[in-house]
Amino acid sequence: MGNNVIEQVFAKDVFNDSVMREYLPKPIYKKLRYIMENGQELDMEVANAVAHAMKEWALERGATHYTHWFQPMTGITAEKHDSFIQPGTDGGVILEFSGKELVKGEPDASSFPNGGIRATFEARGYTAWDCTSPAFLKEDAAGVILCIPTAFCSYTGEALDKKTPLLRSMEAISAQAVRVLKCLGNENVTSVSCSVGPEQEYFLVDREKYLQRDDLIFCGRTLFGAMPPKGQELDDHYFGTLKQRVAAYMKELNIELWKLGILSKTQHNEVAPAQHEMAPIYATANIATDHNQLVMEVMKKVAKRHGLECLLHEKPFAGVNGSGKHDNWSLVTSEGKNLLDPGKTPHENMQFLLFLSAVIRAVDENAGLLRLSASNPGNDHRLGANEAPPAIISIFLGEQLTDVVNQLISTGEATSSKAGGKLLTGVSTLPDLNKDATDRNRTSPFAFTGNKFEFRMVASSLSVAGPNTILNTIVADVLSDFADQLEKAEDVDLALHDLIKKTLTDHQRILFDGNGYAGDWVTEAERRGLPNMKTMVEAIPELTKDKTIETFERLKVFNRTELEARAEINYEIYSKTINIEAKTMVNMASKKFIPAVINYVTDLAGSINEVTAACPEADSSVQRELLMECSNLLAKARKAVVELDASVKEAAKKQEGPEMANFFKDVVCKDMETLRAPIDELEMLVGKEYWPVPTYGDLLFEV
Ligand code: ADP
Ligand code: MG
Repeated sequence: MGNNVIEQVFAKDVFNDSVMREYLPKPIYKKLRYIMENGQELDMEVANAVAHAMKEWALERGATHYTHWFQPMTGITAEKHDSFIQPGTDGGVILEFSGKELVKGEPDASSFPNGGIRATFEARGYTAWDCTSPAFLKEDAAGVILCIPTAFCSYTGEALDKKTPLLRSMEAISAQAVRVLKCLGNENVTSVSCSVGPEQEYFLVDREKYLQRDDLIFCGRTLFGAMPPKGQELDDHYFGTLKQRVAAYMKELNIELWKLGILSKTQHNEVAPAQHEMAPIYATANIATDHNQLVMEVMKKVAKRHGLECLLHEKPFAGVNGSGKHDNWSLVTSEGKNLLDPGKTPHENMQFLLFLSAVIRAVDENAGLLRLSASNPGNDHRLGANEAPPAIISIFLGEQLTDVVNQLISTGEATSSKAGGKLLTGVSTLPDLNKDATDRNRTSPFAFTGNKFEFRMVASSLSVAGPNTILNTIVADVLSDFADQLEKAEDVDLALHDLIKKTLTDHQRILFDGNGYAGDWVTEAERRGLPNMKTMVEAIPELTKDKTIETFERLKVFNRTELEARAEINYEIYSKTINIEAKTMVNMASKKFIPAVINYVTDLAGSINEVTAACPEADSSVQRELLMECSNLLAKARKAVVELDASVKEAAKKQEGPEMANFFKDVVCKDMETLRAPIDELEMLVGKEYWPVPTYGDLLFEV
C-alpha cells in the first residue's frame, strides 16, 4: 500500500475480491467466484464459510451488528440491524454469524410501499443475499455495521424492491445480446453486462438557515422565495474555484466514498449558485446502483458534519437550474469489448451499427416508458417546465453518426465516416489537438457521447435502478427480435444489412440533433408523432399498457402484478408528495408570512399616524403606498391560503390512484402557484428584518 491518501483508504471498508481471497479457504473462494460469475445457487457449505469470513473480517474492524441492506420501492435504502450476539454457556456471549443469516433474512418490513402485492397481513417479505455486490462496513454514530446487499421479495416471489428487477433485466439483456453476437459469428462471448456511470448533481446550503425553512425540511425544496438580484446569469459559478467550506466538504466526501470502494472521480461547481456535481467511474449496473444509493446517503451525512445540508431535490430553487442525474449507459462483453464503441470508421462497423439501431428502435418504441422511468414529482419542475432537458424523448447522435445513418437510410450503403480533424488554436505554443468526430449537445435527453449513451432526463434524487431496468429490458426486447431474424437468415450479411437499414429508416423520427430547448422543437416533435408528456402522472399508464406487460413478462423482468403495483406506487408517491408540499405551504403562509406582513403593515400604519401627528405637512405617501400594496397582496395571499387548504381537503376525498393524482396535478398544484405569487411579491416589499425565513440570496450565496 502506498502513502497517498487514496491508496490508504480505498475500499478499506469493502469485503471485496482481494479480502475474500485472503479470508476464504481457496476451494471455497473458487466455488464462490464460479457462482458469482455463472449465476448459480449457493450451497450451504459455501454460505457458512463466507459468513464466517465476513464475520471475522468485520469483527476485526469493530463491527457489532450486521444488516441485510435493501432497496424498497421508496427509492432509498433500508436496514434493520442485528448484533452478532448469542448467549454463551457461561453467562457470557459468543459472536455468531451463520450462512443462513447471510443468505436469507425476513425483516417483516411490511410498512414499505408494495402496491398491493402484500395485501394480506400474513404476507411475508424476504431479503436474499446478492453475492454480485460486495458487502461493506458502514461506520457512524451507531458504531460499525456490516451491510450485506440484498434483494427484497415477497413470499410469492414478487419483487418488492428496485434491485431484483434490475438484476433480472441485466440477465435479459445479456442473454439477448449474446444471441445476437453468436449470429454475427462471435462465439466466444459468454455474457454481456451493462455498465453505468451516474453523474450526481446536488446543492449545498448552510444548515442553520436550512433549519429555519419548513419547506426545505419537509419537502427538500423551497416552496416560496423571490429571486435575488443575482442568479446564475454570469456563469461565474460553473466550474469556478471552490469556496473553502465546499472544498473541505468535497475532500471528506471523497474519502468516505473511496473507503466504500466507490470510484469518485470528478468534482466541480455546477451551473446554479450553490450547485455541485460528483461523477464516479462507471461500473456494472448493479454495483453502480448500489454505489449511487450510498453516494446520496454519504453526501447528506458528510454535509451535516460541515454545518451544511445537501439537497438532492430536482428543483430546490425556482429560477435557477435544477439537478439531474445523467445516467451513462453502455454494453460490455465478457471479453471486455464495449459494444457501443464505434471505432474510427463506424460505417464499416456492422456490429456497432446493429447495436446502435437496437437502442434507437427501443427508445422510439418506448419513449413514454423511458420518460416515466426518469420521473418523480420533483422532476416535473425540470422536464418540460422552466428548464430542460425537455419532456420529449429524442436521441442525439452527433455529426459523424448522423451522417453514417443518413447514408444508410438513403442509399442502403454507408461508404465513409467523417473524421474529427485538427483543432487549430491559433497559438503557436499550443499543440494542435485531435478533435472528436462529434460535438456535444447539452439539450438532448438521450445523447450518444462517443462510446455510450447518456440518459440525461433522470431525476437527481431517483435510484438509477428504475431507468436502467427499463433501458435494459426495452433494448433486450429489440435484440431478441433481431436474434430471431438473424438466426433464421440464410445469408446473415445480407440480413444484417437489411435489418440495420430498415430499423434506422423506421425509427429516424426519434433522431434529433437540434436545440431541444427551442419552442419549435415542441411543434416539430408533435408533427413527428413523438409523445410529449409534461408530467409524471401522464406517463404512469405506460407501465400497465398491454405492450409493456407482454414485453416485461416475456423477458421475465416484471409480471403483471409487479407492474400494476409499481403504477399504484407511482400514483401514491405523487399524491403524497404534493399533499405534503401543499400542507407545508398553508402552514408557512399562515404561521410565518401572513403574521410577518401584518407586523409590517401595522408598523407602517403606526408610522403614518406618528409622522402625521408630529408634522401634519410631512409627506407620508411612501408609507401609504406601501401600506396599500402590502395590504392588497396580503388579502390575495390569505384568499389563496383558504383556497389551497380547501383543495387539499377536497383531494383527500378522491379515490386513491389516478383520480387523486390527477386532482393534485390539475387543481392543487395550480392553487400552490396562486399562493406563491403574492408571497414572493411581498418578500420584495417587506423590510428584511420582518421576513421570517432566510431568502434565496441568503441560501444560495452565503455558504
Ligand atoms: P462527460 O459526461 O463529460 O462525457 P465522462 O466522459 O467523464 O464525462 O463520463 C461521464 C460518466 O460516464 C462517468 O461516470 C464515466 O465513468 C461514465 N462512462 C464513461 N464510459 C462509460 C461506459 N462505457 N459505460 C457507462 N458509463 C461510462
Ligand atoms: Mg455527462
